[in-house]
Amino acid sequence: MKIITKNQKETIELGKEIARQLRGREIIALEGDLGAGKTTLIKGIARGLGTRKAITSPTFVLMKVYTDFTDKIHGLHRLRIKRLVHVDAYRVKDWRDLRDIGVEEYLGEKNSVVVIEWAERVKKLFHGKKVIWIKMGLGKKENEREIIIRK
Ligand code: ADP
Ligand code: MG
Repeated sequence: MKIITKNQKETIELGKEIARQLRGREIIALEGDLGAGKTTLIKGIARGLGTRKAITSPTFVLMKVYTDFTDKIHGLHRLRIKRLVHVDAYRVKDWRDLRDIGVEEYLGEKNSVVVIEWAERVKKLFHGKKVIWIKMGLGKKENEREIIIRK
């Protein structure tokens, strides 16, 4: 599925729409260069799940775990998601760096959704697991982004 967003707000909206479909256990792997909109999409997902925390790329800490989901969010299945794990593989040397900080524990875990930026660098982390790949890139016009979702 290919989607074009025209501005940052539309990418946030797309993230919210993705969040509505989450049930827990999903692994969302984001590909795309700096500025493609990966963090922006995750911001939308996080908003859609109901966190109020500011979302910034965990470039230096590699992983951030958000757990502040409240029952203010309507819709039954969304209450099942208790944890959004945001990983940024930009600075990792290889997938073992992520294994060493415990990312694997969350992969496919009930009640958790894991979203990984620069996921193409750590493919081995996902061996045998179901992954939703989302490839992001610049569109034809300024502020357009092309987003390809492969389930
Ligand atoms: P990444 O995490 O892939 O490096 P960010 O989400 O941090 O990317 O940054 C995307 C940048 O591109 C932001 O400065 C944002 O304002 C800008 N931008 C412009 N158009 C869009 C769009 N359609 N979707 C997402 N971001 C956009
Ligand atoms: Mg980013």
